[in-house]
Amino acid sequence: MAATDGVDGVNGVNGVNGANGSPKSAHVSVEEFIAQESYDYLICGGGVTGLTVAARLTENPDVTVGVIEAGKNRLGDFLVDTPALFTQMLGNKEYDWCFKTVPQAGNQNKVHHVPRGRALGGSSAINYLMYVRGSDQDYNDWAELADDPSWSWANVKQYMRKHQTLEPIDERITDRTSIPFVEENHGTSGPVRTSFNDTWFPLEDDVAKAAEQAAGFDKKPVDPWSGDHIGFYRGLGTVARTGPLKGKRSYAARGYFQANEHRPNLRVITESLVSRVVLDNNKTATGVEFIHDGQKHRVQAKREVLLAGGAINTPQILELSGIGDPTVLQAAGIECLVDLPSVGNNYQDHVAAFACYELAPGLMGGDSIYKPEVLAAAQKALAETQGGPLTGIQAVQGFLPCSLFLEEGEMDEIIASITKSQASASTTPFQKKQWDQVIAHIRNPRSANLQFVFITVSADFDNGVPDQAKLFPPQQDTSGATPDGITLCVCLQYPVARGHVHIKSADPTAYPEVDPGYLSHEADVAVLAAGIKFLETVAHAPALEGKLGARVKPDPRTFPSLDTPETRRASVRDTCLGEYHSCGTCAMGDTVDSRLRVRGGVQNLRVIDASILPNNVSGNIISSVYMLAEKAADMIKEDWDYAALNKVKVKQSN
Ligand SMILES: Cc1cc2nc3c(=O)[nH]c(=O)nc-3n(C[C@H](O)[C@H](O)[C@H](O)COP(=O)(O)OP(=O)(O)OC[C@H]3O[C@@H](n4cnc5c(N)ncnc54)[C@H](O)[C@@H]3O)c2cc1C
Repeated sequence: MAATDGVDGVNGVNGVNGANGSPKSAHVSVEEFIAQESYDYLICGGGVTGLTVAARLTENPDVTVGVIEAGKNRLGDFLVDTPALFTQMLGNKEYDWCFKTVPQAGNQNKVHHVPRGRALGGSSAINYLMYVRGSDQDYNDWAELADDPSWSWANVKQYMRKHQTLEPIDERITDRTSIPFVEENHGTSGPVRTSFNDTWFPLEDDVAKAAEQAAGFDKKPVDPWSGDHIGFYRGLGTVARTGPLKGKRSYAARGYFQANEHRPNLRVITESLVSRVVLDNNKTATGVEFIHDGQKHRVQAKREVLLAGGAINTPQILELSGIGDPTVLQAAGIECLVDLPSVGNNYQDHVAAFACYELAPGLMGGDSIYKPEVLAAAQKALAETQGGPLTGIQAVQGFLPCSLFLEEGEMDEIIASITKSQASASTTPFQKKQWDQVIAHIRNPRSANLQFVFITVSADFDNGVPDQAKLFPPQQDTSGATPDGITLCVCLQYPVARGHVHIKSADPTAYPEVDPGYLSHEADVAVLAAGIKFLETVAHAPALEGKLGARVKPDPRTFPSLDTPETRRASVRDTCLGEYHSCGTCAMGDTVDSRLRVRGGVQNLRVIDASILPNNVSGNIISSVYMLAEKAADMIKEDWDYAALNKVKVKQSN
């Protein structure tokens, strides 16, 4: 498939495309969608994975695909397109599902806002645009849990390259030491365009240097996308840097949908909520029910139904369809058709802790964007060069092993606490294996079990945790008298805690109960506390001497010093936030098999989204999600389009 993007504009249902002889858009009205009574594949959710798989399956012109998306088509929307404006979509129900967690006992019973993209393109339409890959060991761990070597790094890296295009580096960037990469690890023609920022604050180099000094590293990773990302560097963002979309967000709706929206075998509807998968008496998925404008509709799937609603909505759809834990279903008033207790469990997110500082007087950070002259310059750069800070992402980051900052005896204590949980009667064999892997990561001095992210602006966690619309408040005093601020984050990559997502009602419009279980295991608190020690060391490193003012978070009134593990752990419990990497609620090796088919005797039903991650990976997950969708599409083609070929192969080998 070509990685070419179409032009901006309104598509489909309003009748603009298709008129005047132009090819008709695949984004159709519900009437048109249901006029075709059956599709070979019905995809529930037009997010990252739904659109990726739809694009790949419709490469075969003989196959028909229908995609049902709850959100709107936002192609051409300025907030989606302009990378630095993503914060304005958080908490806005026009773009964000705005899930709320149950009170998090590990975080002083705070209720967290969990943003999820509600638009064509899903969370890739509203995310922070950071393009990071996991460590090679993460995918080898998946292969072990799924008992299928095809998920190992050696095999999946082809799908990493397949979805990606590495854009050229801006020619004004002559010093490339902070952007290490090796070309052969990167794609050249994939639909997701990735690039390095074209401008940055000098302070970013200081922070990266300070992180190296704090960790004792003396060199950059060779290529952080090669399966080894220990070290500190400037990362890639999913931003186009060439062509008509230069300076715009590159996301699933652009690369995978818009580029193919004239295929006659693809139909996509928006503002339509899948309410259940229809199973026949043999537990075979035969179609989907959805609601549009208060009306219920049903369409048939001749081959398969593919669930791509994301880690929160997909388990909800399964449970609404009668697939899940009988106790959960019964309590919600749903008849259990398939007893599959793992549905909705094993919820994992990366959880982050923070240290926020004022900058020394006169130093400029991202808060300055609210100063009229700075904003005007940024707007000019956007308008005239399709570049500048409004097209940038939070780029300075890195990975380190927690063992560097654990106190004497802490590692043994952490491992003992995990081993104790493994011995509990309620621990499943699957969980036990997962936790063996977490222990191996904690012990391994080369495991990237902590991520460092430098955010160039101030953050307000007190108001932002329950409502992320308030997380990055605009600077009120633009006179220059109030110092700019920065936020240093440390994120736990392999949580021990497991949460869940379960329905509480048979009403498909009611949100499920979301419990990420943040910090519900002491081992997670201890590892993150080591991360706080790292952040404090960064702030006091020579490279930042004289550049930072007072610490703002952890609040110095409560935590005047962070010198002991106890105070650091208390500070983590005081303030934490999910890193938006929800996954695992229909885990491969547990709820689905390694070809992503739902277990429990169900036929023709797969889960193809972030729910299937058996374990979280080290780093932001979208590359892994695109990768799994690309692999899923190949597996589906193998099972159907090339089924005859497979039989021939089997005969030959017999
Ligand atoms: C605010 C935020 C910031 C993030 N930042 C980053 C980052 O910088 N880097 C990174 O790597 N990752 C990031 N992520 C994570 C990444 O975007 C997600 O992991 C990824 O998009 C998940 O893909 P998915 O296909 O599983 O789900 P999604 O992309 O969320 O797609 C699910 C789709 O299904 C639709 N849907 C759900 N239920 C229904 C239903 N019942 N009927 C019809 N449609 C339905 C949704 O509207 C959505 O479009 C971020 C996520 C968020 C929310």
